[in-house]
Amino acid sequence: MIENELIFTGVQVNYYFICKRKLWLFSHNIGMEKESEAVKIGKLLHEESYKTIEKDVLLDRVSFDFVERKGKIIIHEVKKSRKMEKAHYYQLLYYIYSLKRRGIEAEGVINYPLLRKVEKIRLENEKEIERILDEINKIVSMPSPPSAERKRYCKRCAYYEFCWSE
Ligand code: SF4
Repeated sequence: MIENELIFTGVQVNYYFICKRKLWLFSHNIGMEKESEAVKIGKLLHEESYKTIEKDVLLDRVSFDFVERKGKIIIHEVKKSRKMEKAHYYQLLYYIYSLKRRGIEAEGVINYPLLRKVEKIRLENEKEIERILDEINKIVSMPSPPSAERKRYCKRCAYYEFCWSE
């Protein structure tokens, strides 16, 4: 296990499942996310869908889309579609894990407002998230990014030009 397991953000955990190269680029501040249309749509969706609840909650380096306090803390993430379901799942699992490491019991909910669906998440396997964090640490510590590999997702990725322009 890496020395400080809470040094990563949920977005980094998400990118680990989407693309290891993207994880590296993002982690090294090669930031193009602001220019991505998909990211803009995601932010708009977030703004419009949940106007009344405590939003964009930040705890140390971990931020959540919004939080409910119903006896226990329930942290929410808002997503457009289920195409990246595994990445969404582990991102939220990491948030729950991070809170537990700080002595706070929490559960998670992924909200898909366009699909009118929710997915509830509980932390059941801490070892697995720790293994993933170790892997993220190894990738981020590499001196150069992993090679680009074509994925269905590439055309919608903010790094598309960076990876694929001649
Ligand atoms: S364009 Fe494709 S290969 Fe490049 S960072 Fe994005 S997902 Fe990864």
